[in-house]
Amino acid sequence: MDIKKLEAWYELNHRKLLFRETTDPYKIWISEIMLQQTQVETVLPFFEKFIKKYPTVEMLAQSDQETLKKDVEGLGYYRRFKYMLLAAQQITNNNHGFPKTYEEVLALPGVGSYTAGAIMSIAYDKPYSALDGNVIRVLSRYLNIDDDFRIEKNRKQLDQINQTYIKKANPRIYTQSLMELGALICRPKNPKCDICPLKEHCQAFELSIQEQLPVMSKLKDKKEFSYITLKLYDKNNQIVLRKRTESLLEGMYEYPQFESESIMDVISKLESKDIFIDIIDKKQQVKHVFTHQVWYMDVYEARLLKNQDASWIFVDKNQIKKLPMAIAHRKIK
Ligand code: SF4
Repeated sequence: MDIKKLEAWYELNHRKLLFRETTDPYKIWISEIMLQQTQVETVLPFFEKFIKKYPTVEMLAQSDQETLKKDVEGLGYYRRFKYMLLAAQQITNNNHGFPKTYEEVLALPGVGSYTAGAIMSIAYDKPYSALDGNVIRVLSRYLNIDDDFRIEKNRKQLDQINQTYIKKANPRIYTQSLMELGALICRPKNPKCDICPLKEHCQAFELSIQEQLPVMSKLKDKKEFSYITLKLYDKNNQIVLRKRTESLLEGMYEYPQFESESIMDVISKLESKDIFIDIIDKKQQVKHVFTHQVWYMDVYEARLLKNQDASWIFVDKNQIKKLPMAIAHRKIK
C-alpha cells in the first residue's frame, strides 16, 4: 500500500476536528465511544461540552448514571455511557492513570477491539489495527476483497491485513488517515477516486467496481411496535413517568406506554390492576426509528383517577426537561 502517500495526504487535508487535535487517551476514548454508530457532526457539540464538564477521567468517575445520561441525551445507544462511567470508576480506583497497554485498554468495560486499536494507535502511536466501517470500505476496495464484512471471520481477516500495514506506518497518522480517507474521499457513493492518494494501486478503481464494495449482507428488517402512550396527570397536575428497566434505553425516563393499538384495551388492562384513568384527549401520533426497531406511538392525554402502578413516579412538568429522556419520548409535545 502507498502508506507514505496516504499519510502525506492526511497531513495536508484532514479536518481539524477537536478530538483529532489531541493525543490524550482519555479524550480519544471519550470521542471513540461517542462516535460508535453516531455521525461526527452529531458528536462534535456533545464532545466539546462533555470535555468541558469532565476534563479528566477522575472528574468523570465522580458523576453518576443519571447525570451522565442527561449529559448525552440525544446521542442514543445509552448503554455505552453506562459502561463508560463504570470504566472511568475502574480506572480511578486502580490509581495508575489511564491504561497504557492494549490488553488493559481492551479490558475496560464497553471497549472492543476497534476502540482499543484506535486508542492505542491514535493516543500512544502504537501499531494496533482499528477497523471501523470507513476503514473496511477503503481496504476492501483497495484490495478488491468481496467477502461479506457482516461476518466476523471476514472482518478478522481484514483486521490482520490492516495490522501488517500499520506495522510499516506511523500508527497515529495511519489510523486517522484511513478513517479520514473513508469519510472524505472513499465515500460509499461517488468516491472521489481522481483525487485519492491510493488510486494508483487501487484495484476497485482499476476495475471500476468501487461502489460494489464492500459487500455487506442485508440487516434483518426493523421490528415494528405499536404503543399507546399516556401523558397522565394526577390531581395535583403532576405528570407520570417511569424509569426504563428494559435493556433498550435502560435508565431513561419515559411516559407510561403499552404495546397495543387500542386505548380501550389499555384502559381495561389498567382497570384489571385497579388503576382508573379518564381520557381527556388524543394528542398526537409519533413515530421514532431506532437502528433495529420502529415505534409507532398513539399519545393520549389522561387524568389519573385512582391508584397507580408501582413503577410510576410523579414529577412537575418543568422537571421533565432536567431528566434523561429518550428522543422518542422527547418528541411528544
Ligand atoms: S481510488 Fe477510489 S475506490 Fe480506491 S481507495 Fe481511493 S477513493 Fe476508494
